[in-house]
Amino acid sequence: MNTIRIDLFSDTITKPTAEMRKFMSEAEVGDEQQKEDPTVNALVEKVCDLLGKEDAVFLPSGTMCNQIAFRVYCRPGDEIIMDETAHTRHYETGGPAAHSGACMYPVSGKRGIFSASQLEEAVRPENNHLPRSRVVLIEQTSNLGGGSVWPIETIQSVCIAAHRRGLMCHMDGARLFNAAVATGLSAKAYCIAFDSVWIDFSKGLGAPVGAALAGSKEFIQDAWRWKHQFGGAMRQAGIIAAGALYSLNHHVERLADDHENARILSEGLAEVNGIEVEPVDTNLIFFDVSGLSVTAEAFNTLLMERGVRVSILGKTRARAVTHLDVSRAQVEEAVKIIRNLSDDIRKGKISVGS
Ligand SMILES: *Cc1c(COP(=O)(O)O)cnc(C)c1O
Repeated sequence: MNTIRIDLFSDTITKPTAEMRKFMSEAEVGDEQQKEDPTVNALVEKVCDLLGKEDAVFLPSGTMCNQIAFRVYCRPGDEIIMDETAHTRHYETGGPAAHSGACMYPVSGKRGIFSASQLEEAVRPENNHLPRSRVVLIEQTSNLGGGSVWPIETIQSVCIAAHRRGLMCHMDGARLFNAAVATGLSAKAYCIAFDSVWIDFSKGLGAPVGAALAGSKEFIQDAWRWKHQFGGAMRQAGIIAAGALYSLNHHVERLADDHENARILSEGLAEVNGIEVEPVDTNLIFFDVSGLSVTAEAFNTLLMERGVRVSILGKTRARAVTHLDVSRAQVEEAVKIIRNLSDDIRKGKISVGS
């Protein structure tokens, strides 16, 4: 039985703080389906304000936000354009095909970010043989792209090109606030060009459950229909909405601490022989261990025996994530543990099964 002391697996593993739990336990509640839950209503209002959208809906997960947006926009056979690394393409069990009959068109961006000209190439011409290009999906920040931040100019040019071709623009903003805090731009500024956006409360913001999808009044009215059909309409959801509300009020600015810790971690790893670190913009640190002649999985197993956990995102590609529940001291300790382990592997002191 190994005990993980420093868990860099994901920013989803954070536990609600004592203050957040207290706030949740005191939340006023009502029937969310009747729009009578005052805490959910307060959350929706706050989200609209922060993202600059007319209306919003509280949902159990980010995945459901994506799937409902696509369900609103797409008819069977329609195509959704996204980067080849998109979360929707890899980790939502083919949801667009299952729920909306939609195809996914992958674009080969750099670090999860593609250009307006790449978008133009991906959009299908008007032709009875071809699928109808319907939506462009932008992931801010790009997860598998390395926690990379889409520059606002790139967003604007891609969305202008998409709108000109009659597509809808949708943002997967699972880590939108990481982008905002990293660049100093407001979340709202990043959202202007989009028809729909969503944010996740259960990632870096540290709430236990929930996401919110925002857009025009008509879009959210449609979204409510699918929320019911997908089984995402809730009852006294104020209990969990309170965690989300608390996270918006108290855990946004502190994302800067996660970014600082990510910088310390990446600079530490960059000095380890045998480890190749990708550029770091926010709280995700991707690194490659092929220089140690081990798989990411074998490396992580050895790390876990030493109290540290990362996640595996390729044969030799691993990801460490900084978050609310890892301190600067722990990050510094993790660097030492990784360095010692890597040195031992290179010197043959540890035999690694491959
Ligand atoms: C986590 C994540 C999602 C899905 O959010 P859930 O709340 O886990 O369903 C979607 N997109 C990105 C980029 C993510 O990181």
